[in-house]
Amino acid sequence: MNLTARDLLHKIASDMGLPYNKIAKIVNEAMMNGEGLLEAVNSLAKEHGLDDRNYRIDALKTMNEIERILKEDYTQTLMISAVLGQMVEAEGKERFPAPAFFAFLEILSSVSEAPKDAKSETSTEIEEHTTRIIELTTTLVSVICRWSKEGVVGVADNCPQELKELARLVFRKTMMLQSGLWSCISCGRIVDVKSTRALMCEECDIKMDDSSISQVDSSRCTRDRNGYGQTSKSEEPN
Ligand SMILES: [Zn+2]
Repeated sequence: MNLTARDLLHKIASDMGLPYNKIAKIVNEAMMNGEGLLEAVNSLAKEHGLDDRNYRIDALKTMNEIERILKEDYTQTLMISAVLGQMVEAEGKERFPAPAFFAFLEILSSVSEAPKDAKSETSTEIEEHTTRIIELTTTLVSVICRWSKEGVVGVADNCPQELKELARLVFRKTMMLQSGLWSCISCGRIVDVKSTRALMCEECDIKMDDSSISQVDSSRCTRDRNGYGQTSKSEEPN
C-alpha cells in the first residue's frame, strides 16, 4: 500500500513505463486545475487501461506513520517542528503548504510526548525524518480534504470516518488564514496574520526569543524541498 503521493506516482510511472518526472508534471497540472490527487492519478490510470484500484492511498496508514515518527524521540520531534515552522513562512519552492502544517500541528498535539533522548539522532536522520514528515503530511491533506483551484474547500467524500474531524479542522484553519487571521501556535490568541512571526503572535515571539526553539540550529537542515518532499543539496557549506 502506498503511503505517500511520491510512492503512488512512482508506482504508476513504473507501471506505465514512463519517467517519474513526466507523471509528476501531469498530476501537478491536474491538481492545479482543482482535481484531487487520487482523482488525478485514477483518471490517468483509467486512460491507460490500468486498474485504478491499484492506485490508492490508505490515509489511516499515512496518519499512523506520522504518529510513529513523532513518538520516536523528543529532540527529533522538536527539530522537525522548528524546521516546518520556518518552512511554512518561507517563500517559493521551500514553502511548506499551510494545510499540511495544520494537520502536522494537530497530530503533534494528539500524540503522547516522545521520550527524551531515546536515541542520539544525527543531522542526516533528522533531515530524512523531516522530509518523510513533509511527504506524509502533504499526502494526508491532499487525500482527506476536498480541493479546488483555490485550495482546500472541504472534507473529501471518501475521507475515512476517523479522519473527518482532522480534515474539518484543516479546512477551518485554512479558511481563517485565507481571511487574514491566525491563531498563535503558542497562546492560541487570534491575531492578524501580518503581525505574526514564526506563526506566533508578537508577544509570544518576544517571550520565545531565548527558548529552545530559537536555539535549534536550522542550518542542520539546509536542503531545498518541494511539495513532494524531494530534496536536493543546497550549496551552503557546513
Ligand atoms: Zn501568542
